[in-house]
Amino acid sequence: MTVEDELTAGNASAEEGAASPRAPRPALVVGHLSRSYDDLQAVSDLSFSVAPGEILGLVGPNGAGKTTTLRTVAGVLPLQQGSVTIDGHDLASEPVAARSQLAWVTDNPEPFESLTVAEHLEFTASLYGVDEWRERAEELLERFELAEKRDTLGHELSRGMQQKLAFCCAWLHRPGLVLMDEPLSGLDPRGIRSARDAIVELAEEGTAVVLSSHLLELIEALADRILILDGGRRVFSGTLDEARHAGLGAEGGDLEEIFMAATTVRRRPAALSEADRVPQSSEVDRKPSGRDAAGAEVARDSATPGPEAAGQASGGGDEMTPRATTKPAAADESADS
Ligand code: ATP
Repeated sequence: MTVEDELTAGNASAEEGAASPRAPRPALVVGHLSRSYDDLQAVSDLSFSVAPGEILGLVGPNGAGKTTTLRTVAGVLPLQQGSVTIDGHDLASEPVAARSQLAWVTDNPEPFESLTVAEHLEFTASLYGVDEWRERAEELLERFELAEKRDTLGHELSRGMQQKLAFCCAWLHRPGLVLMDEPLSGLDPRGIRSARDAIVELAEEGTAVVLSSHLLELIEALADRILILDGGRRVFSGTLDEARHAGLGAEGGDLEEIFMAATTVRRRPAALSEADRVPQSSEVDRKPSGRDAAGAEVARDSATPGPEAAGQASGGGDEMTPRATTKPAAADESADS
């Protein structure tokens, strides 16, 4: 039984942090996490763990609670309910130790306006207490094609360059856990290639990665396991093969098909128009691609992935995601409520 299973079954607390004496300590354990904004329940009773060197793909429809989960794990949002343990350190009681292991890359980089590229790296190194950082910083600047911009101020960088700088800062201190929320957004094709390679190398070096993206091909290519959220709840966690065995999508189906089968098609509560009407299964021309929303809903109904899928939380809408910073995680003290 994994830590995650134990947590889900209520047999362990997140503080335990180790599944068995022989298993390596998980880099991240999230236990029974719930998070609301006023009366909107954004995340409900979510438990999962990530092992060192593992890439967990976090996917779900708009409003599923992915960013809220990542912001809570990063300590950007205060913990309301549940627990987060990073490399054995409880985020609530040991916030500095927990966050020192963490790097956080979002889709909305916000570099410091008054610091140059080089100064960002120097600041990050001092923040995380990294002594021997210059050589690694140079490698990262070369890798992400920022070497010629070392003296450029943060706000003078293009959007994609700001994203690359966020990668360099996140990579600099060799974190035990990297959280990424749509990290490739704004990158040019070469930047995307560099970032993908860098994510894989980071994991090979032992860093645990939580990668949230709507780019399902990216997740399918990089992730060891996937966690699918819908309406703030976990609807599936496991490998693609396990998803297929659980009946999500057709045999051999890709992540897109699994996603369609696992997640809810949100419909207006009012009477549906004829064009919107979900056909009965006998009417459906089942497409192997599973791209058809009606077909996906039928597939989901016939392949409910477990008890957690039964109770969909309310409040998962199509609202915009909150802003997030790509300043070093430990530097961001803007914990909004
Ligand atoms: P997306 O794929 O669109 O980025 P997501 O899965 O990241 O979505 P969240 O941004 O976590 O979803 O949002 C989950 C729910 O919480 C949504 O219903 C959203 O409207 C709500 N929400 C998010 N941030 C706030 C906020 N700051 N204030 C109020 N509600 C919020």
